[in-house]
Amino acid sequence: MSELMKQEALRLLYFLVASALLGWLTGHPGWAYAAGFLGYIVLHLRQVERLQAWLKGDPAAELPEATGVWGDIFDNIHALRRDEQRAQASLLGIIERARASVAALKEAVVLIDGNGNLEWWNPAAERLLGLQADTDTGQPVTNLIRDPDFIRYFEQGPYEEALPLPSPVHTGRQLQFNLTRFGSNDRLMIVADITRLHNLEQMRKDFVANVSHELRTPLTVLSGYLETLIDQQDSIEPRWQRALQQMDAQASRMNNLVNDLLLLSRLENDARKQEPREVNVPALLVQLKNEAIAFGMDKGQVIMLDCDEGLRLLGREDELRSAFSNLVTNAVKYTPAGGRIELRWWGDGSRACFSVQDNGIGIDARHIPRLTERFYRADEARSTATGGTGLGLAIVKHVLLDHQARLDIQSAFGKGSTFTCVFPGALALR
Ligand code: ADP
Repeated sequence: MSELMKQEALRLLYFLVASALLGWLTGHPGWAYAAGFLGYIVLHLRQVERLQAWLKGDPAAELPEATGVWGDIFDNIHALRRDEQRAQASLLGIIERARASVAALKEAVVLIDGNGNLEWWNPAAERLLGLQADTDTGQPVTNLIRDPDFIRYFEQGPYEEALPLPSPVHTGRQLQFNLTRFGSNDRLMIVADITRLHNLEQMRKDFVANVSHELRTPLTVLSGYLETLIDQQDSIEPRWQRALQQMDAQASRMNNLVNDLLLLSRLENDARKQEPREVNVPALLVQLKNEAIAFGMDKGQVIMLDCDEGLRLLGREDELRSAFSNLVTNAVKYTPAGGRIELRWWGDGSRACFSVQDNGIGIDARHIPRLTERFYRADEARSTATGGTGLGLAIVKHVLLDHQARLDIQSAFGKGSTFTCVFPGALALR
């Protein structure tokens, strides 16, 4: 038995002895015991009352004095209360530090509730987006950032990639919006100022575009003279004839490179884009098939076309022609003589697909994720020998991005490859 319980038992014993004494003195032991127990119970009830008053009162109030088991109960509750207060204070400290660090961020942090309304934001959001606490709290975010691209991004999800947009309040500045879902359909929006990065990227694009453009004229002059010289082969010493042919082949390779670089620059430059129109894909594919037959004439490959004649696509014809042509040309280049190439165009309501399947050299799985990078080649020697620029699949990727489409690549090394362009159903026309 613990010390406290011993004290309590002793106290009960005092009451019993006092009651027995009183009973002996008054000659009514029953009443005396009843009075004794009543006194004992009243003593406990008074402690319960003090405990309740203390619990309800000021948490910082002095702990009431108590003896026996009640003293222990008071001490334990007091210790529990103190621990809880400490935990609360440390939690508040953590919340305050988190709040202070979010407030110190250069990036805007905005909390958006399940209905798409603004709930909370940090001071950077006021600077970058012009939000104002007194007027904008509870407003739909799409009322304040009205750019159609933002509205589409916000409503459609799934927020896998960030959205770059011009700043809604500072002309010339570029922002990057990043949304994440959390809790029950709440959203966290982080906005960063990427003006410097954007300007650097723009400088890179301009540089590539300008260099490619400037190289065009000297190349045309060189190719022109080379052609004239080759035409007069008979008057040229035989040891120069091979050199001239190699110079001509390299000049035409450079020409292809410059053209591909210019095309990539055009694809990256949003301002110069045409509006999407209905593209007669079946007719385009017939042309591409004929071009492929001409291109691979000496290889004797079988080239098939399986086409849904009624299926058209909303898009930019020039871009689509370049992308599809690159895929078809690659199939011809990377399929040995006598191989088989199949072009297919079909749709099923939710998507429209163009695929090029070949039974050529195939691609090792480790190269596939990097194939659409500029100048990436699975087999450098072979690709250079085929006269490729290394930019074909980068062009395909850009064109598809521009049409909200994706490129699927299936390939088995030594067996063949299938490249499929998957367009969203919304672009398919019948
Ligand atoms: P390139 O001008 O070198 O063909 P691309 O960007 O068009 O550049 O293609 C990148 C690389 O992908 C090629 O160098 C080649 O290694 C590989 N590749 C593309 N298409 C095929 C294909 N149909 N079969 C095998 N490999 C291919």
